[in-house]
Amino acid sequence: MYNIFCLQKRTMIINLSGIIDSEGKLPIKGMVEFGRVEFDNMTYEFTPCMVEGEIVNVGGNLELTANVKGQYETACTRCLAPVIVDVDTDIFEVLNGKDVTSELFKINRNECEIDELFLSAILTEIPLIALCSEDCKGLCPTCGKNLNEGPCSCGE
Ligand SMILES: [Zn+2]
Ligand SMILES: [Zn+2]
Repeated sequence: MYNIFCLQKRTMIINLSGIIDSEGKLPIKGMVEFGRVEFDNMTYEFTPCMVEGEIVNVGGNLELTANVKGQYETACTRCLAPVIVDVDTDIFEVLNGKDVTSELFKINRNECEIDELFLSAILTEIPLIALCSEDCKGLCPTCGKNLNEGPCSCGE
């Protein structure tokens, strides 16, 4: 499993009453707040993200199709300056079916939380490298000076 640590989580709860026992479609739209997320030794500070999609009961399978849009701030891989990255992630997941149940899908009195599904989909696609600019010069490995601000004297 992922090593996800969410500090300021606000939960998105979906009431599935209308589609849990019969075929049907439930549109979902709203904001999710992941807040500050620590993942793989990196920190991502999310803005509130917009979720739009639907959950459909097809022959007893609950299928989620959705898109999440937002932004997060993280540190430039080379110089550690803050970088803002856009999130635009499409998700398709069989939540609960005859053969499969998503391990992130928990249902309680016809209500389910789907934030973790969205977050894990975003983190799966998150770029390993974030740069403040294409030609970021990074930090000097010897003295640690930010070389975008000018040369250091190590090479002299
Ligand atoms: Zn940089
Ligand atoms: Zn240096």
